[in-house]
Amino acid sequence: MDRCDVAVIGAGPAGSMAAKYAAGSGARVILLEEHSSVGWPVECAGLLGIKAMQESELARGFIVRQGMKGAAVYSPGGFRLDFKAKSCKAWVVDRRLFDRALALDALREGAELRLRSLVRRVRREGGRCTLTLADDKEIQAKIVISAEGVRARLARQAGIGPVQMILSGAQVEAPFAVQDPEMVEVHLGAAPGLFAWVIPTGEETARIGLCTRERGCDLLRAFLQKDLIRKRLLGSAVALTVGGLPLGPPASTVADGFMAVGDAAGQVKPTSGGGIYPGLVAAKIAGSVAAAAALEGDCSAKRLAEYDRRWRAALGRELETGMRINHLLNRMSPAELDEVICYLGRKPGLLRAIEEHGDIDRPSRLMAKMLSQLDWDAIRLARLLRHALG
Ligand SMILES: Cc1cc2nc3c(=O)[nH]c(=O)nc-3n(C[C@H](O)[C@H](O)[C@H](O)COP(=O)(O)OP(=O)(O)OC[C@H]3O[C@@H](n4cnc5c(N)ncnc54)[C@H](O)[C@@H]3O)c2cc1C
Repeated sequence: MDRCDVAVIGAGPAGSMAAKYAAGSGARVILLEEHSSVGWPVECAGLLGIKAMQESELARGFIVRQGMKGAAVYSPGGFRLDFKAKSCKAWVVDRRLFDRALALDALREGAELRLRSLVRRVRREGGRCTLTLADDKEIQAKIVISAEGVRARLARQAGIGPVQMILSGAQVEAPFAVQDPEMVEVHLGAAPGLFAWVIPTGEETARIGLCTRERGCDLLRAFLQKDLIRKRLLGSAVALTVGGLPLGPPASTVADGFMAVGDAAGQVKPTSGGGIYPGLVAAKIAGSVAAAAALEGDCSAKRLAEYDRRWRAALGRELETGMRINHLLNRMSPAELDEVICYLGRKPGLLRAIEEHGDIDRPSRLMAKMLSQLDWDAIRLARLLRHALG
């Protein structure tokens, strides 16, 4: 039977980064991926904030397709709010190349990658974990890091509780009449639970998708039929992406000999649906703590709780505030969302603040500030007048 200090399940961004940091801290690491190649299939829009790219520790080079400077936010009634910064605020990446580059970095630090290695079961006996693969081979590890993504079957079996909710995501990449290749489009109210998006990947192609509490594929079909989108579609889709988006981490992300990271731990921003930035931040902590604990010989949940404490100190507040903002936006009626967008459009100071300080990796502080500055009485009055005047 093969033996290692740390076994990482899943070679997505969180798994590769955890493997890199565990190997870099001196642990013997095996990274297990069920598929025959890293980075495939893609279940992502590939929009990364500046901080996410920095956290990846990768050179942008061939990974980045496009730089984004701003957004056009549409309300349900079609009101539009534009903001555009002078410099790039986000990058549109090729997720396949991004994931592979992260895995290569983990290998350079000394981790071993095994493809076509679906982990079926993990059992813990005598202070060690035994992983059973689909071909019945076994690997023994002192610590297992689940970076399995949204399904997180093994993390749940290890007693790491479910996330608060899972949204349904769907996206197509298609030829598209892009209005501004440096601006993403956000369509509020088009997808209950989050929003719909158009992310340019060039002058004439875009990723058009959404994440929602409802059935993502059904809602995407309806969204593609909306005038604003349908008239700009220039041909059939070249790629269809579907996937789940977990929101709201479980109460604990560790158990004896076991840790969960990335989507498996619900580390996703509830304001934007971005999981790569929080996943990478948490994965670095997970990898370092796992290596230290394995080398010390104390793999108890109590020892691994250092990871839980540290990632919550780094990200917990952002995710909690993000969840409150997500709930608030979801409780608003289409008319209220229209009013908010119109109201913000009349506040050039706020728009400048977004352009200057907008940060898709840590959006909640600015969003909370904006929402607190809204004059709710004026918004309600305007809505009443609008209704009254037809
Ligand atoms: C439609 C959609 C659009 C999105 N757009 C964005 C975006 O623009 N920006 C952003 O930051 N985030 C986005 N996200 C979220 C982002 O894709 C995830 O947060 C991110 O991929 C999570 O990384 P991860 O490493 O935790 O998991 P994953 O990337 O899901 O990787 C998990 C890996 O584990 C492997 N695996 C699972 N189980 C096993 C097993 N038992 N044995 C072996 N291998 C296993 C899988 O094959 C996979 O390779 C989007 C999500 C969706 C659904």
